Amino acid sequence: AKAHGGAQIAFFESAMGDAAEQRFRIDRDLRQALVEDQLRLYLQPQVDTSGRWTGAEALVRWQHPVQGLVSPGVFIPIAEESDLIVSLGRWVVTEAMRLIAEQARAGRSLPLSINLSPRQFRQPDFVTWMQQLLAEHAIDPHLLTLEITEGLVIGNVEQTIERMQALRALGLHFSIDDFGTGYSSLAYLKRLPISELKIDRSFIQDVTRRADDAALVETILSVASHMGLKVVAEGVEEPAQTQFLAARAEGVILQGYFYGRPGPAEEWLARWAADGSL
Ligand code: C2E
Ligand code: CA
Ligand code: CA
Ligand code: CA
Repeated sequence: AKAHGGAQIAFFESAMGDAAEQRFRIDRDLRQALVEDQLRLYLQPQVDTSGRWTGAEALVRWQHPVQGLVSPGVFIPIAEESDLIVSLGRWVVTEAMRLIAEQARAGRSLPLSINLSPRQFRQPDFVTWMQQLLAEHAIDPHLLTLEITEGLVIGNVEQTIERMQALRALGLHFSIDDFGTGYSSLAYLKRLPISELKIDRSFIQDVTRRADDAALVETILSVASHMGLKVVAEGVEEPAQTQFLAARAEGVILQGYFYGRPGPAEEWLARWAADGSL
């Protein structure tokens, strides 16, 4: 995925010269992409320790007319520099709710996690917008988890907590993404209305080989257990990583290439429907 993203950046560079011009071009094309419906929602499965599907994370992709499928690593950072991320984020939320509603009509509960940018979270009308959309799609709000990063809280602790509480009161869940890579303070962690921690892939990668990573993951599992939080381990690529986690936390949820790569939503949903699971 990294090499792919690099090749795509190189494509933009050779096509357009310097970095500023490249950002300008991606920004402009992305605005067009929203109008022309070029965004796609990919899903990556999440499973329990017995391998049973428990839900999925929604990850956005850009079906570019010239260069094909573009990774979010290429365009999300640029979208985040402006209100473009708000429009993009609205599309993701709407699409996720549409999928949940569609599955519900077929008699299936689909728990979905989506990534929420700070700028979108801070929109003055974000809470009322979410409330309206939930009502419109008539979905069970418990099926939707908003993944935020530790950085969101820094600087506006009180305001952030208040807004999170309002969204939590609507029934939505919060998860702290990339947990352990930011400046977490256990003091505010205690005050946030969160349901879940996601252990960053960088700690899982060598968890069976490096004592420091193992200690860190054990600490996170212990904190989560004491606080009654669900834990999702990101980037699980080897069975030994699952064994390590399962031996220390029965209820841990696993996400990673070992269980499935992100793929078009329709493909994963068709598989789950055929399998009778979720
Ligand atoms: P993230 O939220 O931390 O998402 C996890 C990333 O790790 C995804 O990359 C996923 O494909 C990748 N991944 C999952 N399992 C494995 C594994 O076993 N090994 C490896 N090497 N990688 C794995 P992706 O889809 O390229 O997304 C990158 C980032 O872009 C995301 O990181 C997230 O920060 C951002 N992003 C993606 N979709 C959205 C979105 O809809 N909105 C916003 N605001 N950001 C998004
Ligand atoms: Ca995420
Ligand atoms: Ca993550
Ligand atoms: Ca990450």
